[in-house]
Amino acid sequence: MPIMSATHGEPRADSALDPSAARIREMGTAAVEWAAAYHESIRDLPIAPRVSAAELNRRLAEPLPVDGRDFAELLDVFRDVIVPGSRHNGHPRFFGYVSAPGTAVAAVADLLASTLNANLPAWRSAPAPTELEHVTIGWIGEALGCDPGAGGLFTSGGSMANLTALAAARHRHCGDAVAIHGAGAHPAPLRVYASTETHHSVHKAAALLGIGRANVREIPVDAGFRMDVDALVEAVEQDRAAGLEPFCVVANAGTVVTGAVDPLREVAAVARRYGLWMHVDAAYGGFARLAPSARPLFDGLAEADSIALDPHKWLYLPADCGCLIYRDPEAARAAFRLDADYTRVTQTEPAEAFAFWDYGPDLSRRFRALKVWMLLAHAGSRALGEAIEGNLDCARHLGELVDASDEFELLAPVGLSIVCFRYLPRTMRDEPRSDADEQRLDRLNERIMVALQQGGSSYLSNASVAGRFALRGCVLNYRTTRRDMEILLDDVRRAARQVLDAEE
Ligand SMILES: *Cc1c(COP(=O)(O)O)cnc(C)c1O
Repeated sequence: MPIMSATHGEPRADSALDPSAARIREMGTAAVEWAAAYHESIRDLPIAPRVSAAELNRRLAEPLPVDGRDFAELLDVFRDVIVPGSRHNGHPRFFGYVSAPGTAVAAVADLLASTLNANLPAWRSAPAPTELEHVTIGWIGEALGCDPGAGGLFTSGGSMANLTALAAARHRHCGDAVAIHGAGAHPAPLRVYASTETHHSVHKAAALLGIGRANVREIPVDAGFRMDVDALVEAVEQDRAAGLEPFCVVANAGTVVTGAVDPLREVAAVARRYGLWMHVDAAYGGFARLAPSARPLFDGLAEADSIALDPHKWLYLPADCGCLIYRDPEAARAAFRLDADYTRVTQTEPAEAFAFWDYGPDLSRRFRALKVWMLLAHAGSRALGEAIEGNLDCARHLGELVDASDEFELLAPVGLSIVCFRYLPRTMRDEPRSDADEQRLDRLNERIMVALQQGGSSYLSNASVAGRFALRGCVLNYRTTRRDMEILLDDVRRAARQVLDAEE
């Protein structure tokens, strides 16, 4: 039914594309009702769905709708098919991968950001949102102990932040020659250094930038899975003597497999000595600096030229939100500058001439800063630090339970909030074990993991630690308690019995 617009006196259609205020309220209320109920019940949901792709396809696939349907009908599909067909990453015993639970306030912020539909390529496109991104990036820099001159931007994720940092590092070393003429314009092969535990997005970045995966030289680690800095120096010296050009070292602040933090201050000293760009991949671990017990591990972080972070990990935010901090943003600018008519800026005040496209590959950018700002300002750094400290405590508690048990063994020291362990039947505790025994343990633990995931009460993913199959848990949820760690081990025991019984 046509209604009258308040502003122009013109009849305004109430349509799917341009709904009336009443209709927007109706859609919003129904969606928010669902959101509130979801948060209430998330602890009781089975973590992972037991669905097949064929079943989902049967329920969702249809020809492109020509005529529209009611929102209520679509919300029913969301409730009846999408939600039960999803893994519930916010469940307090979902310990797979490196996965945040999301927060309610950030979900609301995303609704507001999409409604405002701010696009942030530059200040002129979105003055207040751009300022808010600067302020929020400043807060993150403060949380990490960065110098006041640091700056940066939000990205889609940690992979994009790593890629962007490597592009800036490469440009500082090679200048415009490579930007204009391609990687072949640089006379010698470039070398990046990173520990054997480094996330594959660093290798992927090297491939995409034409540096080459083979030029990411992997540095061995110590018993705690931290980079061996003497081996780093040796590798750089060797490469230089062979006519290769070291230009960048990537240190980890929380490896994805065991949560190890490289000795950042020592790596920084090597970077300075050899004129290398120091990048820190802190996508998983960076925000743990907010927890007093982990803070000393991050000594030296502020010396890095760039730091990749994932607010969609340990700031608990819903995807997507990565972040890249530059110690000196001006050093990065030359790598991304491009002149085109549509990127010509007419503002003369430097803050108003500011453009994010000078600091990364994206042009159009979502208003990610709103959810980060709303979470940080609403929860405060104290509550966030306490939640992160609680996650560290849960992981240490699990480590102690595993150590004290005669059915489990740790496969790596507990790093930040990650625990790698395995089930070890009492009959196999006596060493030495043969290769065949080890392979049997690998297979057994893999089947235990699958049974655990299917059980729906607790969820672990897998890792390979020194060649052995590990059950790996990462605690990254403000809902998780010590009691959840005890339930997890009971669930693993039950899954183990189920697998062993089926074997007999
Ligand atoms: C998750 C992760 C990445 C990749 O980040 P995305 O946001 O998934 O792109 C890189 N490095 C580490 C250490 C990570 O934990």
